[in-house]
Amino acid sequence: MSFMYVIGFDGNQLNSKCIIAELDGLNGLILESWGQKNNPHYNEALKVIIHRIKSIGIQKINVFLASKPVMKNFPDSNSRKLYNSKDGFFHLEGQQAENLRLDLCRKQKFFSSTEIKTQARGNGSKRIFLHTDEIKSSNEWRKIALGDLSLNFGSTTDVDELSKRVGNIFEMELLKPEGVSNPHKLTTQAIVYSRSPDVVAYIIKLSDGNCEACEKPAPFKNKYGVPYLEVHHVIPLSKGGADTPENCVALCPNCHRAIHFSENNKKITASLYQKTSRLSR
Ligand SMILES: [Zn+2]
Ligand SMILES: [Zn+2]
Repeated sequence: MSFMYVIGFDGNQLNSKCIIAELDGLNGLILESWGQKNNPHYNEALKVIIHRIKSIGIQKINVFLASKPVMKNFPDSNSRKLYNSKDGFFHLEGQQAENLRLDLCRKQKFFSSTEIKTQARGNGSKRIFLHTDEIKSSNEWRKIALGDLSLNFGSTTDVDELSKRVGNIFEMELLKPEGVSNPHKLTTQAIVYSRSPDVVAYIIKLSDGNCEACEKPAPFKNKYGVPYLEVHHVIPLSKGGADTPENCVALCPNCHRAIHFSENNKKITASLYQKTSRLSR
């Protein structure tokens, strides 16, 4: 799973990375830190995360140090646990998120990568793993890291939903995402319609090679020598529209995209009905 940037209280990304992962057999959230330079907002991110965990009514969590050297030198996860109570949990009730964050950071300073110190010193190991039995799914952890915007950062196979999510985060200042090197692939069952070549040819010939919306010529000829125009069904086939000349228009690629995706798509369709007499509703 790829990393995410924690989203702060103001709805913008913090420069602090986290990963939802399984560690020592537990599912939880790893908050990364490779020092001030790479994750300058680590402290703020930790505060936001603690706040969100508290705000859904969770009173205690497990916190483990999780930097590679610490994990190597303290293989037993209990020996690198940060807690503020004898029960081994880090309790959240009755304290502000910022105080809890400070307390956690102070406790981190008792650890070097090789030993437990008697005095808090230095920067400590800052990669930590948070876990609680009360947060069961990765989606719930995603909500902790990203707040209300979490759904918009999830991947989707639905093209319209993708556009909507892009729209919802478009005004944010976005840090460079890691992306996914091997996007998840699914097999879907799609309904496809069988189309008649004579209807397509007839409509393109009727258009004289010009888009019936913007009236500009087709941008190129296709490899069979036919002007490249896309034949669009004014009433979609999926909504019971017919594959007939009375329901078809020849559009340039721009206008065809616009009629499907533009904010003005209804206007474009209305004007096509107005100026193309062969169309029937
Ligand atoms: Zn056009
Ligand atoms: Zn179309």
